[in-house]
Amino acid sequence: MIDTHSHLFDDAFKEDLEACITRCINENVNKIVLVGFSHETNQKAFEIATKYNLFYPTAGLHPSEATKDYQKDLEDLEVFVQSHKVYAIGECGLDYHYGKENIVEQQLLFEGQINLAIKYNLPLIIHMRDATLDTFKILKKYQGKIRGVMHCYSGSYEMAKEFIKLGFMLSFGGPITFKNAKENKYIVENIDLKYILTETDCPYLAPMPYRGKRNESSYVKNVLIEIARLKQMSFEEVEKITEANAIKLFNLEV
Ligand SMILES: [Zn+2]
Repeated sequence: MIDTHSHLFDDAFKEDLEACITRCINENVNKIVLVGFSHETNQKAFEIATKYNLFYPTAGLHPSEATKDYQKDLEDLEVFVQSHKVYAIGECGLDYHYGKENIVEQQLLFEGQINLAIKYNLPLIIHMRDATLDTFKILKKYQGKIRGVMHCYSGSYEMAKEFIKLGFMLSFGGPITFKNAKENKYIVENIDLKYILTETDCPYLAPMPYRGKRNESSYVKNVLIEIARLKQMSFEEVEKITEANAIKLFNLEV
């Protein structure tokens, strides 16, 4: 199993990271993409990844990091990407959930990272919240030059098909296991498994039966169980295909 979106470097794991990693290994979660979202967490993800070989770090600047200094932040991110082996740019994207005051900076920070992904031939990890249309419009400008994943996808089925046309996969985490996640479940049932990835987004969004508690990468198993149920396929088959998808997208060493 692969958790393609983990923040195991978070302070929530300060006390028991070793135990979390052991649980991953015991559950056969053998690859974890450690997703940075700020200068500080990019560094943390990279440092932890050098200690354990199941981790694959990424580097990005989350839309909540967008300020008037976006240009300098992009320069610093590029320096980091040049000097550290990372497997993706992101998470990056647009988030209008907490208001639109910094919408211009968010978009410029996002486009700057798309250009970095193109320049360094890396996939993008996209965070999109309450900003589907703008995210789509921006990505569309780069169609044919980009690839990546819509992380913790929560948009519509129609838009899901559009993002796939742009070269993106859809990643599902804990929310797919929630009873009320009707659109998400419909998407998984109706989209070819070759476009689907599995993730946790830990420490957030724990799947059932851990909903509301701290999430961790080993719980990606519960996500896979639900996808297998929706697809009416065996767990092993879903595991095999989603693993292959992630290895291919992020170019992970096997
Ligand atoms: Zn995340």
